[in-house]
Amino acid sequence: DSLFEKFEALPPDALFAIKARCDADARPQKVDLGIGAYRDNNGKPWVLPSVKMSELQYSQDPSHNHEYQPIAGNAVLGEDAAKILLGVDLYEKDKTVSTQTLSGTGALHVAAQLIYKGDPTREVYLSNPTWANHRNIFESSHLQLKTYPYWKEDTKTLDIDGWLKTIEAAKKGSVFVLHACAHNPTGMDPTPEEWEQVLDAMAKYHHIALFDSAYQGFASGDLDRDAKAIRLGHAKLSKQSPIIICQSFSKNLGLYGERIGCLHIVNPTSASKANIISQLSTLTRSEYSNPPAYGADIASRILSQHELRDQWYIDMKTMSSRIYKMRVELRNHLVALKTPGNWDHIEKQCGMFSFTGLTPEMVERLETKHAVYMAKNGRASVAGLNTSNVEYVAKSIDEVVH
Ligand code: PMP
Repeated sequence: DSLFEKFEALPPDALFAIKARCDADARPQKVDLGIGAYRDNNGKPWVLPSVKMSELQYSQDPSHNHEYQPIAGNAVLGEDAAKILLGVDLYEKDKTVSTQTLSGTGALHVAAQLIYKGDPTREVYLSNPTWANHRNIFESSHLQLKTYPYWKEDTKTLDIDGWLKTIEAAKKGSVFVLHACAHNPTGMDPTPEEWEQVLDAMAKYHHIALFDSAYQGFASGDLDRDAKAIRLGHAKLSKQSPIIICQSFSKNLGLYGERIGCLHIVNPTSASKANIISQLSTLTRSEYSNPPAYGADIASRILSQHELRDQWYIDMKTMSSRIYKMRVELRNHLVALKTPGNWDHIEKQCGMFSFTGLTPEMVERLETKHAVYMAKNGRASVAGLNTSNVEYVAKSIDEVVH
């Protein structure tokens, strides 16, 4: 009687499976628009110049070593990371709990565990659609999951009415997972007025905001602009309940494999702050003891030193503007080809992804006939496009749509 005999095989992770199929594809013209990782105009991963500067500094720093970090990780990073989310004006050290996590995924996981510890019956609302891993993360923490409408397929616009109705109908104190910017997979963010409506309604019904911030600075090239929803949420909600922020440095620093992120609990009551810290500490100690030191050091140098930070601002502009250019080019090629349908949404959406509106059948044909890979729901990572392949991708889309 083997312990693992009863296991059934589960389906492979859909997004990582796309990458494996694309890697194994021998066709020279293949294009990978699957996983969201930035590529330069040669289709290659890009080490940010600010990161190179930081790594050089690290390697020349005789004081570095490979000791354990504290359980909560790099405290300087935690504080600077909270400051870029909230802005120096809103940030209050004594009202913020920050802990370094295994990137955004790890922050979400720890947040889910903490919510479960606080109240195992608490309902958590995810946008429909959302990043597929959200469901995995919250389900594995045994939380009750619900969804709020987000996207209207026919008009390719935000379903603000459906969203507001769900906020109204949800049990008081429900947790709403909000994409801080660059909504994944739709690339469609609420307008400032819509954020006002959503956050006002959340305040009215005493719900809790969990902001997932995976693309700050990557969406618009501007950290402050991409943090607007969080800061508005702080203004409207932090008086009545703590705000949970899950922050990733995978995209904006290109540190995907280093697993660098933070979880912040903003405005806990002064009575609960120390207790939250102790709960987080015990949780982390049993799961991974303490988070990775190297990437945290690299990130922290960039956040805390003017020269490196100025280069980082340029790097974020480099990435976001190249992606925007590719959106424009893809749309223009489709219009020039007279591909049936309206393609304006590709240009209007923001961040890493475009929710193209292609059907699963079209996506399958793109892969089998043209070696163009994207997620089955029609989500394309725009970062996979470059000046050498964008026309080919447009022609391939044109063929499958016809
Ligand atoms: N949230 C969203 C919405 C994302 O798209 C991602 C990255 N795909 C993450 C969180 C977390 O990524 P990571 O664990 O690499 O920080």
